[in-house]
Amino acid sequence: METRKTLKSGEFLVSEVEPGDVFIPEEFNEEQRMIAQTCKDFLDAEVYPNLEAVEKSDRQLMKSMLKKSGELGMMGISVPEEYGGFGQSFVTQMLVAETTGAGYSFSVAYMAHCGIGTLPILYYGNEDQRQRYVTRLATGELIGAYCLTEPGAGSDANSGKTNARLSEDGKHYILNGQKMWITNAGFADTLVVFAKIDNDRVLSAFIVESSYPGVVIGPDEHKMGIRGSSTAQIYFNDVMVPVENLLGKRGEGFRIALSILHMGRLKLGANVLGAAKKAINDSVGYANERKQFGMFISAFGAIKYKLAEQVIRLFASESAVYRVSNDIDSLMEKLKTDCGDKGRASIEAISHYAVEAAILKVVGSEMLDFVADEAVQIHGGMGYSAEMDVERGYRDSRINRIFEGTNEINRLLVSDTAMKRAMKGEFDLFGEAEKLNAELEKLSDGKQEGESYMEEKMRYIRNFKKIILLCIDGAMKQFGKGLVNEQEVMNNIAEMMMELYISESLALRVAKLESVRGVQTVYRDILDVSIYDLSDRIRKSASDAVNSFASEEALPKLSGAVERLAKVRGVNIKEARRRIANRLIEDQAYKF
Ligand SMILES: Cc1cc2nc3c(=O)[nH]c(=O)nc-3n(C[C@H](O)[C@H](O)[C@H](O)COP(=O)(O)OP(=O)(O)OC[C@H]3O[C@@H](n4cnc5c(N)ncnc54)[C@H](O)[C@@H]3O)c2cc1C
Repeated sequence: METRKTLKSGEFLVSEVEPGDVFIPEEFNEEQRMIAQTCKDFLDAEVYPNLEAVEKSDRQLMKSMLKKSGELGMMGISVPEEYGGFGQSFVTQMLVAETTGAGYSFSVAYMAHCGIGTLPILYYGNEDQRQRYVTRLATGELIGAYCLTEPGAGSDANSGKTNARLSEDGKHYILNGQKMWITNAGFADTLVVFAKIDNDRVLSAFIVESSYPGVVIGPDEHKMGIRGSSTAQIYFNDVMVPVENLLGKRGEGFRIALSILHMGRLKLGANVLGAAKKAINDSVGYANERKQFGMFISAFGAIKYKLAEQVIRLFASESAVYRVSNDIDSLMEKLKTDCGDKGRASIEAISHYAVEAAILKVVGSEMLDFVADEAVQIHGGMGYSAEMDVERGYRDSRINRIFEGTNEINRLLVSDTAMKRAMKGEFDLFGEAEKLNAELEKLSDGKQEGESYMEEKMRYIRNFKKIILLCIDGAMKQFGKGLVNEQEVMNNIAEMMMELYISESLALRVAKLESVRGVQTVYRDILDVSIYDLSDRIRKSASDAVNSFASEEALPKLSGAVERLAKVRGVNIKEARRRIANRLIEDQAYKF
């Protein structure tokens, strides 16, 4: 395996990698492309013709679609061969998540099964549990669901009331409680259920078969979108769960739940790419067909702006998705050698990248909302018609900001987790910030005579990092441990971190592409517009933060430094966006 330099989670704030260190989607190998094509063919043959029927809440139809995908091998991508799967790399898993992401409700049902429904047992189950369940989940013989949320326990997931107590003969846990919003509830065979044993303060996890007496599934919820996916409440009335079905150790449930959510967030970040590509293809297809004022609407600058912006945001998110996926693969390889257990090594590696997982989740879901919204707008009145895929896409996209931890919770996680890791000494955030503080008034934009195009972009990114460090350091000094309660400032910091990670990933991808294929104007255009816009957004987030925490004396110095460090050279963004849109219009589909 190639050795690339990888950073720890959050370390991107203080360290740099070379373009050669990141994986880019252009590097997918033949096998990965074939797997993606299989998933795409499946959507064309089995999903798209059934979209309307499945939205009429026919649970059996969705179930049969899932089973067919299982027969094709699509459910075993993340599962090692010894448990009936294909043991594919994390990059490949993310590519499959991306490709199936274009499948509307099917994608939600499929991802819930393959991810949160299957992987807790693979990652935390013992050999017996893996053999009994994972082998059958990997083929679609069983369908899985994940039951964490309760009426009173959503974002505060550990506050659930579902309870388990040991039976007198010690052979069963007797489960009582109620779960809600459970994806695949209508037809799932195995449920990973989180409950507290006796009066424990933390959750434990159980594998519960839906056929056990006392498991009652409610009717499907009527939802805004993803109407084909079954979402229902599940009641547990004195359900006798064999003690062998305790997953992990007693009290380990909260850790399992959180780790699985990290995985879910990463996969969601990939999933939304597929949905966004579908919406962009629909957008450009319509814009190239619809005539107004005697012209195709794709000829209008206002429509070109929208098409270009859709492409830019997607391309940037995609760069970050595969960058972190490959970092996770590298860490998995290392941990597998160290600990021997593939399941545990996988989840340890995934959980390590908690900061990036939250970034992909928030940025990806908001990117898709933007793309889906503009897709409707490009279609005008037709976009509002239930006949059009873009109408479905618009409704379906909205859930991504809510599940797998709401975007509010994930934003807080981005800044909080990075700061905690830095405080633990995983990387030297505060030392670097001190150095910057010491030369605050001298900090300049660092422009060098004769710097190349890429050197200039990388300098901007280094400068943006300095702004973030100054904000974190200043906010920590002002609020101390109470910073976590200053959510507005935490959000300012998270916003900058997220945008920075995405843009740095984009810049590294463009640099790597140039090193292999030479300069291609359209990629520079994407980078130019991104960095130009980022400079304004960083300046705004930083100013909001600085004005919220800095003393009267410190404010001018800090604000001055932010201004100098946020400065970027102007570019003709109108022409850059037009070139990006023209490429899309010519290709008639997203082929960047
Ligand atoms: C279609 C669908 C499918 C789902 N599938 C599953 C599933 O398969 N399994 C499962 O277990 N769950 C599932 N969920 C549940 C989902 O994960 C929760 O809805 C989500 O975690 C939010 O919880 P909540 O709805 O209780 O909102 P709340 O937690 O009540 O949040 C309400 C608002 O308050 C904000 N908020 C809450 N706490 C804070 C805080 N500390 N700081 C700042 N803001 C805060 C939230 O961001 C949100 O804006 C699903 C939900 C839906 C809608």
